[in-house]
Amino acid sequence: MTSEERAWMAGLFEGEGCFTMRRNHTLRMEIAMTDRDVVERFAKLAGVGNVNSLDKRVHQRKEQWRWSISGEKAIALALELRPWLGTRRGARVDEILAAREAHVLEATRLRVCPTCGKEFRPTWNKVSLRKVFCSKACAWPQEKHTAYKREWREGRRKQGLTVT
Ligand SMILES: [Zn+2]
Repeated sequence: MTSEERAWMAGLFEGEGCFTMRRNHTLRMEIAMTDRDVVERFAKLAGVGNVNSLDKRVHQRKEQWRWSISGEKAIALALELRPWLGTRRGARVDEILAAREAHVLEATRLRVCPTCGKEFRPTWNKVSLRKVFCSKACAWPQEKHTAYKREWREGRRKQGLTVT
């Protein structure tokens, strides 16, 4: 992407696009326009995302075309366009990215595993905020695992099946 292309994309996004934060704290970028060629040019330069036709609504006389991306790709592109964005949209991007960073920090904070007592920091993903145990083994302690295996073997034996 040349700087002219980047500036063109930022200009178009300034007028026709919007940045939103999804519930799972990811950034979403979207452009919807009636000019299909313009949206397709934007998508081609971005190198990510697809262009889809929007359902025709009653109040719309012309078909609309939408391009959108979210997640890490959206963050990367937003940061590339950031220097050319105006005050309002630039501030919007900063606000969303700051909220995301705060969420990631909170979700990956140091905690103590209730099974082994070790301090650990979960890697960032959708469930890290709810992560309680340091590992699968701790989430399902050895005694429970052994008891389960014993029951399973007994069950098989009762049914007359071979146990390996
Ligand atoms: Zn543990």
